[in-house]
Amino acid sequence: MVLSPAIEKKISKLGIQQPSDWLLHLPLRYEDETQCFAIAQAPLAQSVMVEGIVQHCEVKQRGGRGQLRAVIADASGQLVLRFIHFYPSQIKQCSVGHRLRVFGEIRLNFFGEAEMVHPKCRVVASNTPLSTHLSPVYPATQGITQLQLRKWIDAALAQTPLDDTLPPAMVQTLGLPSFSEAVLTLHHPPAGSEVAVLQSPQFPPWQRIYFDELLAQQLSMRLAYRARQRKAAPILQGNGRFTSALLQQLPFALTAAQQRVWQEIQQDLQGGQPMHRLLQGDVGAGKTVIAALSALDAIEAGYQAALMAPTEILAEQHYLKLRQWWESLGLTVVWLSGSLKKSQRQAALKQIANGEASLAVGTHALFQEDVAFARLGLTIVDEQHRFGVAQRLALQAKGGETHQLMMSATPIPRTLAMSYYADLDVSVIDELPPGRTPIRTRLIAAKRRPEVMAAIAREIEQGRQAYWVCPLIEESETLELQTAVATQQELILALPQLTIGLVHGKMKADEKAAVMAAFLANEIHLLVATTVIEVGVDVPNATLMIIEHAERMGLAQLHQLRGRVGRGRHASSCVLLFEEPLSELARARLRVIYEHTDGFEIARQDLLIRGPGEFLGAKQSGTPMLRFADIERDVALLEQARQWAPCLLKQWPDAARAHLARWLGGREHFLQA
Ligand code: ADP
Ligand code: MG
Repeated sequence: MVLSPAIEKKISKLGIQQPSDWLLHLPLRYEDETQCFAIAQAPLAQSVMVEGIVQHCEVKQRGGRGQLRAVIADASGQLVLRFIHFYPSQIKQCSVGHRLRVFGEIRLNFFGEAEMVHPKCRVVASNTPLSTHLSPVYPATQGITQLQLRKWIDAALAQTPLDDTLPPAMVQTLGLPSFSEAVLTLHHPPAGSEVAVLQSPQFPPWQRIYFDELLAQQLSMRLAYRARQRKAAPILQGNGRFTSALLQQLPFALTAAQQRVWQEIQQDLQGGQPMHRLLQGDVGAGKTVIAALSALDAIEAGYQAALMAPTEILAEQHYLKLRQWWESLGLTVVWLSGSLKKSQRQAALKQIANGEASLAVGTHALFQEDVAFARLGLTIVDEQHRFGVAQRLALQAKGGETHQLMMSATPIPRTLAMSYYADLDVSVIDELPPGRTPIRTRLIAAKRRPEVMAAIAREIEQGRQAYWVCPLIEESETLELQTAVATQQELILALPQLTIGLVHGKMKADEKAAVMAAFLANEIHLLVATTVIEVGVDVPNATLMIIEHAERMGLAQLHQLRGRVGRGRHASSCVLLFEEPLSELARARLRVIYEHTDGFEIARQDLLIRGPGEFLGAKQSGTPMLRFADIERDVALLEQARQWAPCLLKQWPDAARAHLARWLGGREHFLQA
């Protein structure tokens, strides 16, 4: 098949890179053009086909824009066809006297006439036979028609071998149809098939496709894991010089869980193969100190470390905390973000390149082309789930033979751990530091704000402190800031006896640090904040957290914010103010946060509400996700794929290779970097 470059380009948008990709360009749904209804008998509001002769056709001017309106009729009645957008060719199609076959949903319009808006139309001769098969509707892109897609797919089906990549015994044991049967059925449904059956995920041909896709994912993850095991990485065995000094100056001892995960990490660092470990621990579990200790292990061994966080604010919090520790150890840490001035950036780059900086902290700016480390040994990624799978894999490719520690407060639900994260080793801090008190969560409608203010006054009279988190305004940071300033003013007027501070994302790092220091010293009673305090802030005397417009925030964010209180001896509470009416989604989220305090359960519910795409951050990153399978819906197949993958690699390595080539084509290197 020889296609023009313009068409090739459009096709590549559909993810078609090799001829066999057409086989897996499967229908989104099916249309039934095997039946033609009499106009008057056709059911309403469902896709149907009718046929009639054009009686009338006109382009009406309405509010500057033309509308094409045609009327067709058969022996039983009349049907209005209406096009709000149309091409000249469509006017021609609707010429009076033409016999049209139209496909779409019939509705009664304002005048009570039967009408189809934007039907699919075709001019036919009388007695044109009906199709005998359901028509597949493929994912398409602008400038490519279903007809073209069908032609290319049919050509591919004729030319590409449809052999099973899997051993017949395996397919049989699984009780699935063969690959060729599955693909042929889905592209060319047999006569008499029903739309509902073909579109059901339980339909055996779909089950086979889902299984194959999940198996390809398992195979590539396993191969990635093995490939990594074969690579060499620096042996980062420290002498304990810096780590013991840090441990000594900390005001606390590590919990048993922290000790354990640090040991697991040290084992990896000393093993000679690149570490890929996920450190999981609920909000406040104490991951930062583990990151610092691991970095110091690398530094003691003569290497550098890098710590990357998803947002400037979070990266900055880490920088401020680590700078204190590093300075006390006589070590240098540099800060690298997108917003540095050119000269500052140059200076930081120089310290990274000449090895003077033992640690670099920053956003993804850390991994731009021009950042060259003298001797990078360990990369730490905080809140890794916010980066998304694609960035993780890109970093993996870039980091090459370095060790990687990923941290997340959002536990990975079981299905995700079995699929997208199958190539990682996991350590869990399953214990909070001692002395945390349970937090009482209350949901209060925003109209009861005065009561909430009175509660703040009472809390502060007891000597405690409080946070007031202003609404998240995604569209505008400026507006978010204005709201925060206005809220501070309002609270000052309502609670004149209190000292009320403000912290927001646009403040300079030292201004922010000064406000936080004053809050820590209890010189500020009530701290008004934008969502900047989501992470890292630690003031044990603060016992009350007020969150405005809680309905706008995501579950992970609410869980993080709530985790800012309950860090001391005193009982704490979190008030979620919400604006009515609540959307279905907001109601579901607020119920979850109200009913659960366990981060693991909250993450699981979050996955159920949002689906894995958003959970993984793939929306932003455009990761090639599973196209057909759904890890929640198809969890049984996922488990089978997991069981079969190692067996296939061992017993039938050629089959495994063929399977990966079919499913991932040239793309598997992406997963194996
Ligand atoms: P997260 O895991 O959410 O990143 P942090 O690392 O920010 O948590 O730790 C939360 C707070 O707990 C910090 O103030 C930290 O100093 C403190 N902390 C960490 N480990 C311990 C411990 N073993 N005992 C007491 N406090 C600890
Ligand atoms: Mg943290």
